[in-house]
Amino acid sequence: MEKKQIVIIGQGPAGLSAAIYAGRAGMETVILGCDPKVAGDYTIDNYFGFPEPITGKELIERGVAQASRFGVDIRCDRVLAVHPEAEGFRVKTEIGEVEGRAVILATGVSRVKPGIENLSDYEGKGVSYCVSCDGFFYRGRKVLVVGEGIFAANQALELLQYTPLVSICTQGKAPDMTPAFMSRLEEADISVLESKIAAIEGEDGMAGVVFSDGSRQTADGLFVAMGQAGAADFAASLGLVKSGVFIEADDMQQTNVPGVYAAGDCVGRFLQISVAVGEGAIAARSAIKYVKQQSGK
Ligand code: FAD
Repeated sequence: MEKKQIVIIGQGPAGLSAAIYAGRAGMETVILGCDPKVAGDYTIDNYFGFPEPITGKELIERGVAQASRFGVDIRCDRVLAVHPEAEGFRVKTEIGEVEGRAVILATGVSRVKPGIENLSDYEGKGVSYCVSCDGFFYRGRKVLVVGEGIFAANQALELLQYTPLVSICTQGKAPDMTPAFMSRLEEADISVLESKIAAIEGEDGMAGVVFSDGSRQTADGLFVAMGQAGAADFAASLGLVKSGVFIEADDMQQTNVPGVYAAGDCVGRFLQISVAVGEGAIAARSAIKYVKQQSGK
């Protein structure tokens, strides 16, 4: 498997700032991501050094150019899962896999919600966010994966290790998966429903779902995998401590797992570019120190 010293997830301000520091320090660094949210069409009025407003798109383009000047491998590729390995972390993406000695999470906060009214009532009683953590509890049982993208497809395929009774529900969205993933789902007999789940039902744990048209389907488990994998999903598979939706990190951006750092909105201190950039720099500094220690330098 391809190996890098530092893998950064997310090409927003936090990730790009970390990439600039890691690249300048001569670390073999890859930064994974696509369609940075900040690259939307809003303008930024309060970031130091730009007396005239700058668009998010331009700020990110400048950050990408700067990181690439320092030899950072910048890839348009979304991360599906991160798992600990004997000597680092295996990062599975839509395109392939890469192993990092250290990982910096800079994924921002996900604002995508499935819109199921009583979802939180069933968390831990049928609703899960992590196949590698909870798939085992659904051996031979009927499960639904909620999501429209490759992340959902990958979660559904992973669930086959535990049960053949898997289907995907896109919550009314058009499936956004590559033909390769669509055919893997078809081969595995995983159906993709384009209906919308309105609520979950069941007296003592989950027994099924009610769709917005009033129809019902039995199911023992529901795995949420909307949009792309985010901080919460990586926190679950890596065993990171969270505070609500945010990842806990100390003042050196170190999480509770050695070698894993978090920066920017996913840490949730003050959701601003200046803070994300500062935390990205600190996370890179900590990751560089860790990688050097691990390799005895
Ligand atoms: P993000 O900018 O969210 O970047 C995270 C990146 O990680 C995203 O590109 C995301 O696609 C990517 N990612 C997530 N999951 C994966 C995955 N599985 N694989 C690969 N990549 C992944 N702040 C200001 O300072 N000034 C402003 O004027 C301002 N205006 C704003 C206006 C709006 C409408 C919004 C929504 C925010 C605004 N903010 C502003 C806040 C600012 O955008 C954030 O604080 C900042 O972008 C945080 O940077 P980040 O790198 O932590 O996260």
